[in-house]
Amino acid sequence: MIVKEREIPLRLRKLESLGRCLHRSHPARQPILEEYKRRKSGYRGELAFDRYLDTYLSEDYYVLRNLRLPVRDSFFQIDTLILSPAFLLIAEIKNHSGSITLDSKFNQMTHTFQENETVIFNDPLLQAKLQASLLDDWLENHAKLSIPIDYLVVFTNPSVHIDTPTPAYYYKVCRMNSFLEKLASVKKHFPKPIVTPKELKRLAKLLTKNHNPEDNINILEDFNLTRADIHTGVQCPACSNFTVKRVSGYWRCSSCLKKSREAHIQAIDDYFLLIDCSISNRTLCDILCLSPSTARRLITTLHLHAVGSYRGRHYTK
Ligand SMILES: [Zn+2]
Repeated sequence: MIVKEREIPLRLRKLESLGRCLHRSHPARQPILEEYKRRKSGYRGELAFDRYLDTYLSEDYYVLRNLRLPVRDSFFQIDTLILSPAFLLIAEIKNHSGSITLDSKFNQMTHTFQENETVIFNDPLLQAKLQASLLDDWLENHAKLSIPIDYLVVFTNPSVHIDTPTPAYYYKVCRMNSFLEKLASVKKHFPKPIVTPKELKRLAKLLTKNHNPEDNINILEDFNLTRADIHTGVQCPACSNFTVKRVSGYWRCSSCLKKSREAHIQAIDDYFLLIDCSISNRTLCDILCLSPSTARRLITTLHLHAVGSYRGRHYTK
């Protein structure tokens, strides 16, 4: 049973927005697009795993997707957490293609792709093990509970070639289509229920309640950008140029002449993702190049929260 669904990662949404709004010749464009592609591929892998579990996993298990829990002054994040009365299982999901070598000696993952290009990553097993340890502490502190926690690294891309010189890793790494077999082994290893079905339900609720969605990402700062580096106007959904004006109740692009009714929605979303979590009436008029009365009329259809009186009014999501 799915207790907590997966959201689109905020950093991915911000990178996508930045890709749309950054001036086309800006030198930061390349690293932004590379990170966007990498994260998008990871997210696709997570969605593929979600579909797999939706199809094959027994309803007896509780599933929490993309769980982010507080630990001391920070947070730790679990791709997928599966709850049973006898154990919890962390699935760390990877969507690499090409060839993967996992090395326990130096705790590294070597990814080789295309023309023998190689990239080294941290060992995902070590990452999953650390999550298990943090979750164990969290459960002790927040639920006064001690229950076995196991972990697996799941590769979702069917074309990936996986290799490891470490036999101990054979038990902890799998392809997506053998995940259920691995789960059955874990179940065999931990046969004794530790909690009752009622307690398990309560635990699933407690974990969900303590999930902290990511909210503190300043993407402009991360790429050394300022507001001047990005477009904040209305973008044409057809040709992507910022050459759109409001004409007779439509948005009309002077480059490709296409008309749109809703091009302003993206502009406002991008402002919230890249610049600020609230927008004044005045800024809104500037961005949309509209009179206060037209801007107000459009904004009422978007169900934003209005704060303050007319002159000092701000809108938030
Ligand atoms: Zn256009």
